Amino acid sequence: MLLGSVVYITYLDASPLIVPHWQDHMTNKYSAFSLFRESLRGHKGWQPAWRSPKPQAEYDVVIIGGGGQGLATAYYLAKNNGIKRVAVLEKGWLGGGNTGRNTTTIRSNYFHPESVALYEFSLNLYENLSRELNYNVMFSQRGLMTLIHSEPDLEMANRTVNAMQLNGIDATIISRAEVQKRAPVLNFRDDARYPIHGAVWQGRAGTARHDAVAWGYARAADRLGVDIIQNCEVTGLLTEGGICKGVETNQGTIRAARVGSAVAGNSSVVADMAGYKLPIQSYALQAFVSEPLKPIMNTVALSPATGTYFCQSDKGGVVIGGALDRVPSYGQRGNLPMQEDVLSGLLEMAPALANVKLLRHWAGIVDVTPDSSPVIGPTPLPGFFLNGGWGTGGFKAIPAGGTIFAHLLATGTHHEISQPFDPSRFTSGRLVDEGAASGIAH
Ligand SMILES: Cc1cc2nc3c(=O)[nH]c(=O)nc-3n(C[C@H](O)[C@H](O)[C@H](O)COP(=O)(O)OP(=O)(O)OC[C@H]3O[C@@H](n4cnc5c(N)ncnc54)[C@H](O)[C@@H]3O)c2cc1C
Repeated sequence: MLLGSVVYITYLDASPLIVPHWQDHMTNKYSAFSLFRESLRGHKGWQPAWRSPKPQAEYDVVIIGGGGQGLATAYYLAKNNGIKRVAVLEKGWLGGGNTGRNTTTIRSNYFHPESVALYEFSLNLYENLSRELNYNVMFSQRGLMTLIHSEPDLEMANRTVNAMQLNGIDATIISRAEVQKRAPVLNFRDDARYPIHGAVWQGRAGTARHDAVAWGYARAADRLGVDIIQNCEVTGLLTEGGICKGVETNQGTIRAARVGSAVAGNSSVVADMAGYKLPIQSYALQAFVSEPLKPIMNTVALSPATGTYFCQSDKGGVVIGGALDRVPSYGQRGNLPMQEDVLSGLLEMAPALANVKLLRHWAGIVDVTPDSSPVIGPTPLPGFFLNGGWGTGGFKAIPAGGTIFAHLLATGTHHEISQPFDPSRFTSGRLVDEGAASGIAH
């Protein structure tokens, strides 16, 4: 029996996929003790991690979209703002959008102070997230290196690192030898097409298990009374006297004092229901995972020259990402030319991976703004609020995005961190241009 518990604890660390069935119905808490007790009674006491309620006729707040941003918003609304009559409406399954499709990188090494305030706040929240949610999101601060391939790269890297250090971010430049020590699998040949001279290093950056973040927030929000309703598609907005009063769904009309949209690549579609246009374009962004390998690299490596980045998951797969597909699209498949670009970039970075087989490949639809920064704020339709425009980088921002959007929905006014990301910046011209912030010119 004891051995059984030890095995399960090991499993808990290795694969949160099994965790949702293991909720303790007495303490409602995951712990070594509840695991041990369940092992003694044949694991019969575990409950689903969240309920599947029927939608009520009315809520204080309805959130459209059960990705990380929507679920975190619901959690913080209940926890920070005391608003518990909240529903999250998801047209598919939780985390089935970009939250469950991303390459899991978390960092705060942005250029502008407004962005640093947002992403550093998020990174700080990630550092305690597993404990806060009582759910192992497998946050691993293994560091991120943005490679320096040339003298101009080095100048840009110095500029970036200076800006980051002024903003209080733990960014430094590391030498070629230090890069080699951390990632010997990279291409250090003198005749490499993109030689490695060093890297910009953020040691507190890292990765987290993406769907565990969605499940952890869902379970924690459910425990605070939030209704999470899957297979519930919002098909229209209910308006009365020019004010948003709720939503129309495939499960009927649901009234709400405030409605928030957190639908990523579908932001323009939902904005269309509200009768206005957004400065957002939707593109496919692809990701790739290889067959599992023994440990080859315990960090995240990004090459601005090729636009490719990769890390290794805890299961051993090499997780590979790159730039956006070239044409706007709602097709969650991705196109072949970009696959070729990303994978040839990987082979420039690490030729030793040439014979590794790809296991899976997919795309998500990301919502890209002209300045590559998110859009959070009220909309032209009173009562209807927007959280979107996260593009290629909103996974790292889930805890912060949820906190500030909850504040907006609860109070009707901006949190100080979200103020610079108000949609009005597209008319005032006060953009927060982070187009090169990921090292890839999205
Ligand atoms: C391949 C790829 C790699 C990425 N890599 C990273 C990375 O390494 N680091 C990082 O920080 N970010 C990354 N991102 C971006 C990140 O995944 C997203 O910015 C983030 O997940 C957005 O979260 P969200 O909750 O807003 O959106 P989503 O997770 O997409 O959730 C939106 C949800 O809304 C639902 N929805 C849409 N329309 C409706 C409707 N009418 N009614 C009801 N529900 C609806 C969708 O089904 C979906 O589940 C990546 C994205 C992709 C695709």
